[in-house]
Amino acid sequence: MSNNLNKQEDLQQKKHKALKAKKKTIVDERIAKATEERGVLILLKGNGKGKSSSAFGTMARALGHVQKAGVIQFIKGRRETGEYLFFKDHPRVDFLVMGHGFTWETQDKSKDIEAAQAAWKEAEVMLKDPHYNIIVFDEMSYMFKYEYLDVEPVIEALKNRPAHQNVIITGRTMHRALQDIADTISSVQDEQHAFRLGVKAQAGIEW
Ligand code: ATP
Ligand code: MG
Repeated sequence: MSNNLNKQEDLQQKKHKALKAKKKTIVDERIAKATEERGVLILLKGNGKGKSSSAFGTMARALGHVQKAGVIQFIKGRRETGEYLFFKDHPRVDFLVMGHGFTWETQDKSKDIEAAQAAWKEAEVMLKDPHYNIIVFDEMSYMFKYEYLDVEPVIEALKNRPAHQNVIITGRTMHRALQDIADTISSVQDEQHAFRLGVKAQAGIEW
């Protein structure tokens, strides 16, 4: 009886090992094929929490490798964010915040468009500058949703940027044209959020 059980276990372990080896071969082949060296366009979208924080986490990773970073936040809350306060004085970070508050607070569309276009001008300069290894356009996707910016010039500038430059764009919804040229797209799902449990927004977590 116990002998039979041992044999069964042995067989299962062998099967498991074979499966693992097969998987490893497939992964190794993929790794061997990924030889291109160039910057990527990463889009972080979806309704869940974690898009901007992921972008700034990646930026911190790049800074750890002594890279240079540029950030433009396209929507500004009433409060200064922790990421702004933390990164603004970093010697290798240029951090710009669009000069206007939330659209649903200002209710002045022409001023919002002006602010968006001024921010885009700065963004365009960054996308031409090979000194930037990584650029974060936080909440940029809303600029297209609200039609504050045309997507075409942004696509052109992204396509013509220095080959090694990595760009991350965040925002709940992403323009189709951006998704068409992106290298990596991650969607953050909203399964639960503390806000719905009545927990107040807090420094260090929400901003
Ligand atoms: P984070 O900056 O925390 O990574 P995010 O960039 O993914 O969040 P945004 O859409 O930019 O999300 O919203 C920013 C703020 O809104 C954060 O304070 C976040 O906690 C909050 N938030 C995000 N998703 C939800 C949600 N599903 N319900 C309520 N609040 C949310
Ligand atoms: Mg965000």
